[in-house]
Amino acid sequence: MRGVTVSPNCLFCRIVGGDVPAEIVHESERVLAFRDVSPQAPTHVLVVPRDHHADVAELAAADPDGMVELVRAAAAVAGDAGLDAYRLVFNTGARAGQSVFHVHGHVLGGRDMRWPPG
Ligand code: AMP
Repeated sequence: MRGVTVSPNCLFCRIVGGDVPAEIVHESERVLAFRDVSPQAPTHVLVVPRDHHADVAELAAADPDGMVELVRAAAAVAGDAGLDAYRLVFNTGARAGQSVFHVHGHVLGGRDMRWPPG
C-alpha cells in the first residue's frame, strides 16, 4: 500500500485516515467517495483523493493521473446511483464557496439543476 500525503488539521485527511466517520460509497487505492453531511440533492457525494491537495488546480498540477482517477470515480459514483445526469462541482477558493481545503468533487444528482448556479 502506498503512503498518503496528509495535512495536519484537515477534515478530509481525517476522514481518509478513518479518524472521522463518513458514509463511504466508493473507494480505490487513491480515491475515496463519501456522502455529504448536508446533502443539496437526493444524491450528494464528495469524491476526494487520499493525498492532500488544497484544490483541483493543485491536484491537476501535482498529480494529473490522480485527477483523472478522481473524475472516473465521480462517474462510477453517478453510475452506481443510477443517475443519467449529474453535476460535478469543484468549488475553488473561498469566494466560490470552498470551505474545506482538501480538493473534493461534489457529485450532485437526482433532481433538476438550474443554470447559472447561485
Ligand atoms: P465546499 O464548501 O465546496 O468546500 O464543500 C465542503 C462540503 O463538505 C460541504 O458540502 C459540507 O456539507 C461537507 N462536509 C463538511 N463536513 C463533512 C463531514 N464530516 N462529512 C461529510 N461531508 C462534510
